[in-house]
Amino acid sequence: MARLPLLGIHHVTAIAGDPGGTLAFYAGVLGLRLVKKTVNFDDPETYHLYFGDEVGHPGTIMTFFPWPGAPRGRHGVGQLTVTSFAAPPSSLGYWSKHLQSHGVTAERSEVLGEDVLAFHDPDGLRLEIVGMADAASRPGWTGGPVPAEHAIRWFAHVTLAEQGYEATARILSEVMGFRLAAESGNRFRYAAAKDGPGTRVDVLCLPDAPPGRIAVGTVHHVAFRVAGDAEQREWRQRLVAQGLNVTPVLDRQYFRSIYYREPGGVLFEIATDPPGFTVDEPLADLGTGLKLPPGLEPARARIEAVLPPLSDSRVHG
Ligand code: ZN
Repeated sequence: MARLPLLGIHHVTAIAGDPGGTLAFYAGVLGLRLVKKTVNFDDPETYHLYFGDEVGHPGTIMTFFPWPGAPRGRHGVGQLTVTSFAAPPSSLGYWSKHLQSHGVTAERSEVLGEDVLAFHDPDGLRLEIVGMADAASRPGWTGGPVPAEHAIRWFAHVTLAEQGYEATARILSEVMGFRLAAESGNRFRYAAAKDGPGTRVDVLCLPDAPPGRIAVGTVHHVAFRVAGDAEQREWRQRLVAQGLNVTPVLDRQYFRSIYYREPGGVLFEIATDPPGFTVDEPLADLGTGLKLPPGLEPARARIEAVLPPLSDSRVHG
């Protein structure tokens, strides 16, 4: 097992269509807080929107690159196909009615002993709300449109769809320090060394499914947490020693990142917990202003001129 374990999921990043629709759904319907409105540092004429709990704690962060007018992607193997949020088990009835009242069709089922509501976002991204006993132990955000007792608390897990399961399983268990915690049929549930929010990764073995294509309505990558820069450097060395092609450390302003592709094709990232979203905005104001990293500030006027307006960042529905 890893000497400095991965702490679980840090964030999930997906491709969206219209940024206004994304804001209305994740803030207005799911009740997440928009904790940062910035641009894609690799494509600064497009937004990067971050949603999370009140603070944007690692393990709660869902982020989007909106590509207005771009085609929809296709769900398939080699992709993170389902992003699952956790709420208290007693809240699933609320969520079922709440989603229905917003015209969102949700299917209820039981997976590995937990109640699950499965639905899609406006771009077809596959989401779930899972009733997790642990979720009741942390209070929900009181500032959103969803009553705090029912609020989404963090990620329950992510699901990776894989054509061949063994190579991905080996990276998760032998390199990344996850352990096989449960399995049922073609679903293998891995858990990070330490229990807690967002510590599970499901691998779904789908040998006959076609490969996915990443575009609107699909996940771009998943990031896992490390406590800081020293841990990240150690992880980078360990991954390189395993023959993985790992990027240099990139400064993402709110965390630092390295990226690599797991053998099944899903893009993985390892991100630091610090500095977090209050590095350039006070807690009370998170998500209200367009934030740019220092290197892009000189281009602010040009960037603001091409980004579509996103007027109300505090959607209440
Ligand atoms: Zn990322």
